Amino acid sequence: MFGESGEGWFDSYGLVQALLRKAQALDVIGIERKGRRMSGVRADNGTIYPCDLMVNAAGAWSRSIAAMLGIDLPVHARQRSIFNVLSPARLDGCPLLIGPGGIYFRPEERTWICSTSLSADNDPDDLPFDEVDHALFDDVIWPTRAHRVPQFEVLRVKRCWSGYYEYNVLDQKRSLARIRTSTIACSRTVSADTACNRVRRHAA
Ligand SMILES: Cc1cc2nc3c(=O)[nH]c(=O)nc-3n(C[C@H](O)[C@H](O)[C@H](O)COP(=O)(O)OP(=O)(O)OC[C@H]3O[C@@H](n4cnc5c(N)ncnc54)[C@H](O)[C@@H]3O)c2cc1C
Repeated sequence: MFGESGEGWFDSYGLVQALLRKAQALDVIGIERKGRRMSGVRADNGTIYPCDLMVNAAGAWSRSIAAMLGIDLPVHARQRSIFNVLSPARLDGCPLLIGPGGIYFRPEERTWICSTSLSADNDPDDLPFDEVDHALFDDVIWPTRAHRVPQFEVLRVKRCWSGYYEYNVLDQKRSLARIRTSTIACSRTVSADTACNRVRRHAA
């Protein structure tokens, strides 16, 4: 910036990062309303940030935000663990393979990525966010993989990580729904029809 006073330079990337970090550090703990319209969000630092429109992009936690408006969003937090393994197995041109039980694997350069989906009757909500389910690998994924592809009997876990899927318990589809109180609920996994129907019911 140039001029007769207040000259200097500006680190736009730094500003964006600072805004991002501040936004990430704050939790929304309430939604303010004026009549039937929302007027702002209340953060855990005590500040109310006024707005006309709010995008609920809280992923696996978006249900708790929707609940602040009395909306029951069918998006649940379901823990998933992913394993990156080393193996001498060489399967040229191997695509992503998904077995009948939901166990999948795919190549990742000279390693392999693998995991499994869980059966609906053994997939509880809100398990610890960052605890890898090592027993799932040892007891289910590895034996099943080795049974189907004997080369995978020899392998070693190189890395593993876990987190939440934002899981739509109704139809496992994604959605984008506008709510008349001026909240937009975004989810990769909620059906638009489902969310809109629920929203209509609550907004009526
Ligand atoms: C182990 C694992 C592996 C995955 N692998 C893949 C993959 O290979 N490819 C793929 O496409 N997807 C993958 N996914 C899914 C993908 O990570 C998610 O679908 C994606 O991150 C969702 O993005 P999002 O922006 O909707 O939510 P998120 O990335 O979860 O962001 C939600 C944000 O909201 C914040 N938040 C929550 N509550 C509040 C609150 N009250 N106030 C303010 N902020 C709040 C959270 O802190 C978070 O930062 C994987 C998921 C897991 C768990």
